[in-house]
Order: sequence, then structure tokens, then C-alpha cells
Amino acid sequence: MALLQISEPGQSTNPHEHRLAAGIDLGTTNSLVASVKSGLAETLPDQQGEHSLPSVVRYTGDNIIVGSEAKSAAAEDPLNTISSVKRYMGRGLADVNELGGRRPYEFVNADSAVPRIHTVAGDVSAVEVSAEILKTLKTRAEASLGDALTGVVITVPAYFDDAQRQATKDAGKLAGLNVLRLLNEPTAAAVAYGLDKGAEGVIAVYDLGGGTFDISILRLNKGVFEVMATAGNTSLGGDDLDYAVAKWIMDEAGIEDDSSHHQMRRLMRTACNAKETLSKQNSVEINIKLDNGSNWNGSLSLEKFNELISPLVQKTLLPCRRALRDAGVEATEVQAVVMVGGSTRVPLVRSKVEEFFQQQPLTDIDPDTVVAMGAAIQADVLVGNKAEDDLLLLDVIPLSLGLETMGGLVEKVISRNTTIPVARAQDFTTFKDGQTAMSIHVLQGERELVSDCRSLGRFALHEIPAMVAGAARIRVTFQVDADGLLSVTAREETTGVESGIEVKPSYGLTDTEIETMLRDSIEYAEGDVAARMLREQQVEAERVLEALEAALDEDGELLNTDERQEIDLAANRLIELSKGSEVRAIKEGIAELDKVATEFVARRMDGSIKKALAGHNVNEF
Ligand code: ADP
Ligand code: MG
Repeated sequence: MALLQISEPGQSTNPHEHRLAAGIDLGTTNSLVASVKSGLAETLPDQQGEHSLPSVVRYTGDNIIVGSEAKSAAAEDPLNTISSVKRYMGRGLADVNELGGRRPYEFVNADSAVPRIHTVAGDVSAVEVSAEILKTLKTRAEASLGDALTGVVITVPAYFDDAQRQATKDAGKLAGLNVLRLLNEPTAAAVAYGLDKGAEGVIAVYDLGGGTFDISILRLNKGVFEVMATAGNTSLGGDDLDYAVAKWIMDEAGIEDDSSHHQMRRLMRTACNAKETLSKQNSVEINIKLDNGSNWNGSLSLEKFNELISPLVQKTLLPCRRALRDAGVEATEVQAVVMVGGSTRVPLVRSKVEEFFQQQPLTDIDPDTVVAMGAAIQADVLVGNKAEDDLLLLDVIPLSLGLETMGGLVEKVISRNTTIPVARAQDFTTFKDGQTAMSIHVLQGERELVSDCRSLGRFALHEIPAMVAGAARIRVTFQVDADGLLSVTAREETTGVESGIEVKPSYGLTDTEIETMLRDSIEYAEGDVAARMLREQQVEAERVLEALEAALDEDGELLNTDERQEIDLAANRLIELSKGSEVRAIKEGIAELDKVATEFVARRMDGSIKKALAGHNVNEF
């Protein structure tokens, strides 16, 4: 007889109860909700059968409209119609102003750190606007699935920092959702393709959406995804392609740059439609009504379109290169390239990516829905519908963490793109005899000098026993937990005295700042190398010239006037060149001098051998 089963207290007695879960792709341009039904992930449509919800919210005096209706009203009511709000999630007013962009609505210069957009319905924050989008998707999912959602997974760009992630979670809460987890968009896409079930190896996820570009290099190992590196551009996407086309229309139609909000909206919408048509056709007819009442007609060929957008597409390859370098892999080692985002429908994007990675990218799953589908699969696991799933998704830290050492230098303890959670310890010692305290300065960044990095915090370790300099063993441990929180502790090993702090590594850092810090470190690193190479060549030139001078002093009589003149000329040229900064020119100057002095060197050799031999017996050699 089988044993009777007893459930744990508080747990369901029905082991087959299916909890409702959904994955939400909260996009800059479009948002989607998906759910796993009978084992398959699918996006859920609204009552009109539309799957994709434009991430646009319109505030009127008495209600809030979300989606395509809001999007259509954008041209008439630009100031109360908020689009691309994801760009402002978790950002301060300073960041928002720095972002600039072509937004028509207005931010209020409020005292609060959270920027608010002014609308007829009052001032609203990015979190509140996003919550409206999420509420709409929640309602849609519950209507479609027939019951309340137990939990959701919301996706975020891999580049989102703590503040942006927190803002996204807050928006979920505000929408009445139980946010089980935030999931990186590239990981969700890889999950949707079932790559977690496939062969082990390196996967690149190329995501070109409406407003952002992300490239992520993932490594799949025993069914576990590790984000090896991420890079991207937070202000590059389909909107920019639209703008390139709009600009072309403006040039062709002779429209001024400072045209009205309404006209700009119309232009952008027309440009966007033209762009999307060019993903299926070789040319498109454009017809647009202008502010002055007239109409403009024109034709845009795919060839011309490619020419307009080529620099933008090219711009995505730089982060691709950087991500590969950070991950320490070659393009040829990438086993699969996943295409994500509506803009990867653009033929030029596909061909450039194929060329870059030297393989055909995966495009079978609709690039618009792939992220939501992956999120749905993950949500399904997290609510407990699939007990046996071992899917584990790891994150990385965006910038290196380290501490200040003598001379204002930074010692990196955890390098950027290390997967979290992580803990690393390093031993330090005292600088002076009898030193009883040590100041620990925690820094974030890639540069060598403290002044070029960002200070995260300081703390002191006291009660170090007085010893001679260098005898104490202070173990400093950096620990970053799964949520990206850093804690640093210092412990004197002989006495066990301990001290520490907890810091949020990316708190207050916008990803633009992260990008800038990275770019600086790369640029300066190259600058440092170039300076060193120049210095080395100059030293070499100096050495050659000094040796020549000594030789001429000693054996100048071995040369006739012409020969001497030729050598002097080459020497003077090298002196001039080494005052400049052309490494190659100095190198060539040295080679040139070497060449004209060959004969002289040979004669001196002969002479010196004779000299050396004079008075010696050959057998001594
Ligand atoms: P996000 O993740 O930023 O919300 P999406 O992945 O939804 O963005 O992509 C939206 C972008 O994709 C928009 O710029 C849209 O114009 C573009 N897009 C959608 N369909 C096509 C298409 N067929 N051809 C070219 N671009 C497209
Ligand atoms: Mg997207």
C-alpha cells in the first residue's frame, strides 16, 4: 500500500495547482506580456488582437490612456503624451537634462530628486508613467488568463544600474504586481530560444530596440547562464533611424529644424512607417502634410535608406567589439547570435551583424516578442510550476571595485564584468612603524589614479597592534551580493579587530557616467601606451646619436668629406625627428642613420680589430 502524503503546513494540498505567472517586457517603445500555457510561452493579445502595447501614456483631464490610442494622439497632444519614459527611469533631474533628446514634453524643475513631467493631470514621475503601462498589461493578462497573477518577471536592459532596477521594481509594485524578479533582457531572449537546454558555449545577444542598444555576451555552462560582458549605447535605437529619415525628409522638403511639436511628431511617425516598410520592400512612397498646409511627396529607396542609417548601424559594432574583448572571446568563438528588438528587422542591421560575427544570426522567434517569452518561462519556474528547473541567471558588476593604496593609486580588488555574487579578499599592510589605524578608501572605476575614479566611501580600521611597518596583515574583503550591494570589511589577522561598510556600488551613477568612465579608461590606456612608445623611441634615438658622436670623435678620419656630410645630415634629421611625436618617423630616422653609417661602422670594426690585435697573439682570442 502506498504511503499517505501530507503537505507542509501552509502549502497547497493540491500538488497540481497551476499558479498564474507572466513575463513582462517593459520596453522603451513597446511593451508585451507573455505567459506559459500548456508548456509553451506565448504573448497575450489585447481585445483587438494586438500583442504589442506601445509604451505611450496620455494624460487627459479626466483619464489615462495607454498604448496605441495614446500613440496616435501624440501628434495632437504632445505635451500630455509621454513616450520613451524608460529612458528616465531611476534618473535624477541632472541626468535627464544631460540626456537631452528630442522629447516634446516638459520636465518640472521641482525640488525633489525625482524628475517629474508636467501634464494636465498633474506632475508625474517616470515610475508612475511606467506603472500605467504595467497596469494595462496586468489587466490584459488577467482577462486573458482568467484569474489574478501570482507573480511576474519584468525584464530590464543588462546595463540598468541599481537605481534604474529599483525604479522598475517600484513601478511594478505601484501597478499592483508581485515582482518575482527582474531579468536581464538578453538572458530572457536566450531562454526563449531554449539555448539553456542546448550545447554549452558562448552566445551573443544583439538587441536593437526603439531607444537603446545592448550587446551581451553570455556563456552557457551546464545549463547555467553567465553574463560574461555587456556593452551598449543607451541612446541609440530605432528612434534614431526614424530621425535620420525625418531629417532626410526635412532636407528634401525644405523644412526648418525648429518646426513645431506637431510637425515634428508627424514627421517622426511618417519616417517610422517608411522605415518599417523598407524592411519588406525596396522603396517606399512618402506623403506628408506640412504645417503650411501643403503636401510633400517623395520616394525613399532602400539603398538611400541604408546610406542614411549606415553610420548608426556601424555605431553598434563598437560596443560589440568591446564586449567581446571584455569577455575575452573572439567573434569566431561565438556559437549563436540572438537578434532581439524590432530594429533587428532592418535588413542592413541583419547583414552587418552577420558580417561582424561571421554567422547567420537567430531570427526565428519574432524579435519583438522573444524577451517577453523568455521572461514568461522564467516566471513560470519562479512561481513553482516547474519544480525541477535549475535555471540560474547571473549578473555582472559594470565597473571595477578597488581601494586606495600609497601614492594615490587604485588597487583593483574585483574587476568589472565579474559575475555576482562574488567575494574577493586581498591582504594589505601598514606603511609606518607603530601604525595603529588604517584608512580604507573604496573606489569604483577603471583608471589607475584615485582622482580619476569614483569614491564610494571610506572607513577606518583602528586598534591595529603597533608593529614595524609591513608586519601587520590586514585582510580586506569585498563582497557583492546578488542584488549588487557591496560590503567591504577589513580585519587585522593577529588580533581579529574588524571594521567595515556597506555601499551601493552604482548608486547615483547613470549608465552614461559608467560609459564615460569606461571610455576614459580605454582612451587613456591607449594614450599611456602611445606615450611610452614615443619615449622609448626618443631614448633609442638619443642612444644611437651619442654612440655615433663618440665614434666620430674617435674615428672621424676614416670618412671622406662627402661621407661625413651624409652621416651628419642623417644625424641632424634624427635629432629633429626625435623632438617631434611621430614614433614611426623616429624609428625610420634611426634606420636611415644606421644605413648611411654602415660603411663607417664596418671600417671601424676593421680598424678596431687591427688595434685590438696589435700587440696580442692571435691565440689569446
Ligand atoms: P524597445 O525594446 O525599445 O521597446 P522594440 O524592440 O519594441 O523596442 O523595437 C521598437 C523599434 O523597432 C521601433 O523603433 C520600431 O520602429 C522598430 N521596428 C518595429 N518593426 C520594425 C520593422 N519591421 N522594421 C524596422 N524597424 C521596426
Ligand atoms: Mg526591447
